[in-house]
Amino acid sequence: MLILVANLGSTSFKYRLFRMDGSGGEVVAKGGYERVSDYAGVIDDALATLQRDGVIASPDEIEAVGFKTVLGKDLSGCVIADQATIDALEGFAAVAPAHNPPYANGIRQFAKSLPKAKLVALFETAFYQWTREASYNYAIPKAWRDIGIRRYGFHGASHKFIAERSAELCGREDVAEIARRLYLDGPRPVSGKPFRVVSCHLGGSSSVTGILNGVSIGTSMGFSPQSGLPQNNRVGDLDSGAIPYAMRTLGISLDEAERQLTKESGLLGLSGVSNDIRDINEAAASGNPDARLAVDALVHSIRHWIGAFMLEMGGIDALVFTAGIGENGADTRAAVCAGLEGFGLHLDPAKNAACRATEADIATDPSAARVLVIPANEELVLAREVFRKLS
Ligand code: ADP
Repeated sequence: MLILVANLGSTSFKYRLFRMDGSGGEVVAKGGYERVSDYAGVIDDALATLQRDGVIASPDEIEAVGFKTVLGKDLSGCVIADQATIDALEGFAAVAPAHNPPYANGIRQFAKSLPKAKLVALFETAFYQWTREASYNYAIPKAWRDIGIRRYGFHGASHKFIAERSAELCGREDVAEIARRLYLDGPRPVSGKPFRVVSCHLGGSSSVTGILNGVSIGTSMGFSPQSGLPQNNRVGDLDSGAIPYAMRTLGISLDEAERQLTKESGLLGLSGVSNDIRDINEAAASGNPDARLAVDALVHSIRHWIGAFMLEMGGIDALVFTAGIGENGADTRAAVCAGLEGFGLHLDPAKNAACRATEADIATDPSAARVLVIPANEELVLAREVFRKLS
């Protein structure tokens, strides 16, 4: 099955074309456009390019298009992208202004350009559909809850893949199968011992998710991607009382406060150096105290969430690192794992130092719980979910 995975930004369109079958899949073509003002033109150009390059004989060969949508009002999961999906995206355009309008427009355009293809949306919130009410509700007035303010969670495609792959690597095929079929069958009981994972997606934006028997029990991100860990430029968790106080005291508008919390906060705001952990580590190593603080605050926040989920699950069987910092940042991983031996987590310093962007178990051999590095490949994850949904 040929599946096109469309990545739509406010002015960009990137795609990967996958050939998928029951045993996996491969990328057969990829491409992209920047400074896009009209999706119709670039989508048709991409299809013409695939034909001209001999990748497809006709656009009709593309059986499905997958969209990694972020969040929808009153809609989540892995769903056929139809008018209800577009309405859900537009209903939360104000919450995800950089993501929802492009996806709503992109889905509309693909329906015209590829009328025979099945369009499938995988919401980033999908993995958290089964978290408990007590965990996803904020203590806010009912009127606020009624307009959809609650904890949703993001990076769902990435964390769900970790749920599958960590179980495979730990020999828990029973749990891996539950995780793989989660969006088809929902959660299913495990007959043996529980399998408890904490997944750390640490990249330009980051989140930590607790996963029990293949299903998320909660995550660090909440209503919007502004929450949880400090992100590259985004604030992460902040007391709601800080915003009115800063606005009044600094004399800034709501729009300006929002801009500063989105663009000038997080690792950049704390370090004053960069939004990239590599630059910040370098500055910290050469004695910059603000850079040191940024690194320490990130590690502190990661550990805070790991602790929360370990407690809720009654322990941990695998701690997983993924995405740019998780895959490459041996020093971040070491700092996160420091002193966790009492919880059965023994990091092997040599294996950790040697692991860069490859799949590896970096715990010591006798460690009771595993420490895993699993590279993220969100496009492939999307292609797999679309394939599962349609086959
Ligand atoms: P995004 O969330 O933007 O998709 P990625 O998962 O690609 O992000 O991660 C990007 C981040 O990964 C960068 O901001 C950078 O801080 C970090 N990163 C990339 N390479 C390395 C490296 N070699 N060592 C440490 N961190 C790295």
